[in-house]
Amino acid sequence: MRRFMLAFASFAALSALLTSPAAASPPVPFPSSPKGLPAPVTLPSGVDPVSPYLPQVSCSPVNMPGVVKLRALVLKTYGEGGAGGISRGCTEGVSEHSEGRAWDWMVDVSDTSERTAAANFLAWVTANNGRNARRLGIMYIIYNKKIWGVYRASEGWRTSSGHTDHVHISFSWNGARGNTSFWTGKVGTIDLGPCIRFTGTYGALTSTPRTGACPQTKSLLKKTSLGNRAYGRTGDTVAKAQGLLGITKTARFDAATWTAVKAYQKAHDIPYTGALDQPTWASLSPSSMTSNAVAGYTRSEAIRYGVLNYSDNTFQRGYVGKAAMMLQTALGMPTRDRNGFFNTVTLAAVQRLQASAGLTQDGIVRAEEWQALADAL
Ligand SMILES: [Zn+2]
Repeated sequence: MRRFMLAFASFAALSALLTSPAAASPPVPFPSSPKGLPAPVTLPSGVDPVSPYLPQVSCSPVNMPGVVKLRALVLKTYGEGGAGGISRGCTEGVSEHSEGRAWDWMVDVSDTSERTAAANFLAWVTANNGRNARRLGIMYIIYNKKIWGVYRASEGWRTSSGHTDHVHISFSWNGARGNTSFWTGKVGTIDLGPCIRFTGTYGALTSTPRTGACPQTKSLLKKTSLGNRAYGRTGDTVAKAQGLLGITKTARFDAATWTAVKAYQKAHDIPYTGALDQPTWASLSPSSMTSNAVAGYTRSEAIRYGVLNYSDNTFQRGYVGKAAMMLQTALGMPTRDRNGFFNTVTLAAVQRLQASAGLTQDGIVRAEEWQALADAL
């Protein structure tokens, strides 16, 4: 029996050597029975699915509720370290902080009690291939030059850099929304988050979980001489937008500017990004336009182009492209609304045309609608 135990022990040691390369060791020594977080609900036996890596695509200054709840519970449970920030401006590279779904727990590795608190939390949250990370919707963690990702849990702690004075915690969208079993008592689903619809812009803000692939990213139909600006940026270009939006010129893209940009985008039914991107600039400042998919077309030329090229097609709300921009020109819509999005503003103009031409006011553009425009010339 004793010989068997010895043989087993040496086999286990050998296995550990083979499967635990140095890089997989934790960022700080972990306790063998770590103190974890008390769940506020009865946990189900099932565990939330593993979220893939979902990098920042949109820009929002709102601290997401799941992140706020975790911050409060960690600080209360361990009583160590500074609260640290969640939301941050969109002025740096890709960071989930820019979507309010990352938190920096200020615990320094050189401080014994702070390091011990971090070690307890990290050991608890990453144990059993990240069972508790899955329950909380934690996507990845960086501490003391090591990174651990729930989507690469079998690899353990991998080499990273920095983060010696705080633990960085990024959340999946489901985790950030607080829709995971640790908070709800019900196994969550995967929420893949917002989609980038147009090249060079941020993803559209949404509160609806996404499970399928994003629609194909389209290129912009219009470009302007004004650069994209998002939450956190400062300068004259931001002040110019504030003037056009009719709000106080602080030259800082603050929460009030974010609210005003969103309200403008909603009113004009253009991509709801909360950022001053090219579709928004083209609408706010038509004179700044440097390229336009239907540049040079007069209203009558746009009507003739539509009759010739689009009579075999139907277009309706939701369509995005050159045909919508040609239609907007043919309808004589204001320049700021000729953006290539068959939106609610375009729909209303189509229905007015249908009413005046005695057509069914269904907002769908077919050969009859183009012909009605030509007849009115
Ligand atoms: Zn961070």
